[in-house]
Amino acid sequence: QKLVERLKATSQFYKKKLGDKVGAADIKSLDDLKRLPFTEKGDLRDNYPFGMFTVPLEDVVRIHASSGTTGKPTVGGYTRADVELWTEVMARTVSSAGVTKKDVVHNAYGHGLFTGGMGFHVGADRVGATVIPISGGLTRRQVMLIEDFGATVITCTPSYALVIAEEAMEMGVDIKKRWKLRAGIFGAEPWTEKMRRELENKLNLEAFDIYGLTEVIGPGVAVECSEHNGMHINEDHFLAEIIDPDTGERLPYGSEGELVFTTITKEAMPVIRYRTRDRTILHNEPCKCGRTNVRMEKIMGRTDDMLIVRGVNVFPQLIEKTLLSIEDIEPHYQIVIDRPKDQLDTLEVWVEASPKLFQPIDTRRLDELQKRVAHELAQTLGVSAEVKLMGPKSIQRSEGKARRVVDKREL
Ligand code: ADP
Ligand code: ZN
Repeated sequence: QKLVERLKATSQFYKKKLGDKVGAADIKSLDDLKRLPFTEKGDLRDNYPFGMFTVPLEDVVRIHASSGTTGKPTVGGYTRADVELWTEVMARTVSSAGVTKKDVVHNAYGHGLFTGGMGFHVGADRVGATVIPISGGLTRRQVMLIEDFGATVITCTPSYALVIAEEAMEMGVDIKKRWKLRAGIFGAEPWTEKMRRELENKLNLEAFDIYGLTEVIGPGVAVECSEHNGMHINEDHFLAEIIDPDTGERLPYGSEGELVFTTITKEAMPVIRYRTRDRTILHNEPCKCGRTNVRMEKIMGRTDDMLIVRGVNVFPQLIEKTLLSIEDIEPHYQIVIDRPKDQLDTLEVWVEASPKLFQPIDTRRLDELQKRVAHELAQTLGVSAEVKLMGPKSIQRSEGKARRVVDKREL
């Protein structure tokens, strides 16, 4: 009620959007959220850069932004109270992974406009941990400092965590003996349960998934507890709904659909029913950890990242899952789609095979493996893919979000 009241008074955008149709008095229960209109990514783009702010710029103490897929970035503004709120939800987040003042947190999320670095910094700082704001890049140095500073917790994207692990192994570091990492908080991009096992084995730690987005606050929207049965959403600040992405209809707990957020306490840039385009399922059964807030499953993809190859719907997530279920396949891959002139779409999957098949090179086993991967992919995707097995390190590594899909058809 307060949010609707405030937005009608302070936001040109929402004044227009809400119109005379709904007022604060119409919101009598959480269910009445349904009466409010959606906010879309396009609305943020149309109001770039500061048109979604509901306070004067002088009350905004921080601006963050995420790289937009369409050129202009998505902007997030924070008042002093918003920064405090962010600190609070990030303190909860790191606490959920057991972080206390006794921990040394190696924070390799990008520091800067991207919300990851700063978000983790303030949260880990609030619980009193020793924070290393290393940011991304210079991986050999990261490997050295993780050991020298005795990091117990690492925070970065899951793909960069793999890069660090790989570099360490290459440098001959005995991770299990010499590193003290016990928890990793990984997010900002989708990853699978297979990837979790890879990370936990290679880095010898417990991996936690964390979810967030700039439009809502950045990281700190949801995080796993030690049950690892979904990410608890900070519902006292961010109300979550699942909708049918086609009809916009609200779906009950347990159904898969598009995740939608309403920020009830944010000041500078609150959003009503923001459509994330992320697909997941919400669960409200009690959790053994004792937290009572709703849980969201791992992101299953986006309502807008589905690839259509030769008329078949292809989910990149499914390709990853299939690849990682095959022995001797490494978690480094790229999906390349093209449409040669007057020809059908081509789908190529480039993936690295285990280094042991290359030293010395075992062409017979590589051949078999290549056929096996192509067969498995065709079975699960319903469309054939040309598989290219690559040697160690031939797929470009990323320091942030990995670029998994190269769709040349749009270029
Ligand atoms: P950030 O990457 O800091 O979370 P951005 O605003 O740049 O913030 O990107 C947000 C998007 O990143 C989300 O809408 C979602 O698609 C993706 N994302 C963030 N965290 C996760 C996660 N844990 N699992 C899957 N996707 C995620
Ligand atoms: Zn729990």
